[in-house]
Amino acid sequence: MRSLAVVLLALLTVLTVLLHRSDVAAAKPGDLLLTAIASELARRPVTIHCEGFSGALTGARGESGRTEFIGGKPVSVSYLQEGICQTLHAYTRALKADPSCLLPCEQPLELAWSLNTLAHESYHLAGVRNEAQTQCYALQAIDFVARRLGASPDQARALAAFSFDQLPRRMPPEYSSPECHDGGRYDLRPGSAVWP
Ligand SMILES: [Zn+2]
Repeated sequence: MRSLAVVLLALLTVLTVLLHRSDVAAAKPGDLLLTAIASELARRPVTIHCEGFSGALTGARGESGRTEFIGGKPVSVSYLQEGICQTLHAYTRALKADPSCLLPCEQPLELAWSLNTLAHESYHLAGVRNEAQTQCYALQAIDFVARRLGASPDQARALAAFSFDQLPRRMPPEYSSPECHDGGRYDLRPGSAVWP
């Protein structure tokens, strides 16, 4: 009888710990602003979580964001490195403090990379798996993401042009495609002003 009581007590402890842990997991809401932007691009409700070390734009394996696919379909949650989230939020704050710079007054490359990371994972969440196709869509969405963070149309266009110019050469070859141009197979809106 006594051993049964011990077993029951142990079970109760395990249950309490499990319940508490699922409570903590459910309570973490994700990044509200970035979640809203990603859901617009993915055209469905998705969640963006930030992970990793403060200030880090890339994780241990060199990735800035990750989205899992299960059975060929994306899950509804993407994870961005903490530094990506921080850079995006810092840009929103910087625009409020001083909206005068056309390209961000500080670290435009870090911002372009971060805008691109959010857009890139959003298109994975939309169901696009091919990296070159996903990345081509992401470049076309840079101006949209910048606008949603508070950039003016001119600032957003400048950031898009800067990203088209600077980002592709910093990525592995499988992230580029000859179809990524105005009128190409990966052009989301032929004739649109986002193309350089
Ligand atoms: Zn990807």
